[in-house]
Amino acid sequence: MIIPQADPQANYRAQQAAIDAAIRRVLDSGQYILGAETRAFETDFAAYIGQSYGVGVANGTDALALALRACGVDAASEVITVAHTAVATIAAICQTGATPVCIDIDPHTLTLDPDQLAAALTPRTRVIVPVHLYGQPADLGAICAFAERHGLYVIEDCAQAHGAVYQNRRVGAWGHLAAFSFYPTKNLGALGDGGMIVCSDPTLHARLLALRQYGWDDQRISQSAGVNSRLDELQAAILRVKLRALDADNARRRARAAQYTARLASTGLILPTPPANVLHAYHLYVVQHANRDHLRAFLAERGIGTALHYPVPAHVQPGYREQVRVVDSLTHTERAAQTVLSLPLYPELSPDAVEQVADALHMWCATQPS
Ligand SMILES: *Cc1c(COP(=O)(O)O)cnc(C)c1O
Repeated sequence: MIIPQADPQANYRAQQAAIDAAIRRVLDSGQYILGAETRAFETDFAAYIGQSYGVGVANGTDALALALRACGVDAASEVITVAHTAVATIAAICQTGATPVCIDIDPHTLTLDPDQLAAALTPRTRVIVPVHLYGQPADLGAICAFAERHGLYVIEDCAQAHGAVYQNRRVGAWGHLAAFSFYPTKNLGALGDGGMIVCSDPTLHARLLALRQYGWDDQRISQSAGVNSRLDELQAAILRVKLRALDADNARRRARAAQYTARLASTGLILPTPPANVLHAYHLYVVQHANRDHLRAFLAERGIGTALHYPVPAHVQPGYREQVRVVDSLTHTERAAQTVLSLPLYPELSPDAVEQVADALHMWCATQPS
């Protein structure tokens, strides 16, 4: 039996009849861009997260870039974030002309360490972008308190954390703005590209509506410069179907994650340890081991797919290293890049498959010096 690391087709199959009907409805409607489906999905998704407005855009990277621009971020600005993330986070900041300023992660949560924020602050700092990596909420209490003290915006990168909860509120409801991706493998995945920004400030909302279409006003006259970044009706209709299943899908992810955690307790692998005040969305179940590459090859030989999120931190990637400013040393960031391994995890993954992966991990770990 082959076990993939992720399986977006299985998620489509699980709701094939409803998704096919939604697609048919759009095809028959004659409205393919920014129509009733997108408006309904924007309203429903923003309400699900706990913000007033949603703005559908072409992908998660654009969602971040437009959220930054709505805050007035430009080439003179600095944006504090982490290098242990999808390079998309950094690409979005660079798209605005601003400088990404990368600080280290907390070694336990692998998310932005709020204790590093003070050293990164300059008169040019405008925004903090915490990334809820793997579906685990960053330390939003400390991050939002720091931002408030220094008059900064918080834009949450929620691309991996649809439905995750920090204290008693969902992630995406804590920042001034939050950016989501609907890339097919994400917890809420389209059958193509898609993204959304959520916020509750009507001024930010109005700016975002203009930014996604050339800076247009109601008369389709560009009052500011914008881009073309829209969510299409087909993806919105598909996402409306899948949003209804998101909590159940996340519950399945958590159940499989709990099974991994119970089965792998005695292996010597470092396992995810979410703090008690969060509900992890388990976009990914990531273990750590110094001999990660050998383990990965061992699992591949047994038909078990894994992935690396992420093997090269953004601040050392050739396309971005010259644009990124690094504060102090990114010790934990660089360590994580060498040790992380994402195991198979998706809502349709069976308990038997998790057992098979756990058995293989036990077999390999027994060969390792302790
Ligand atoms: C997927 C992802 C993005 C970008 O989303 P796209 O829709 O692929 O542009 C941004 N940040 C993180 C952390 C992601 O995982």
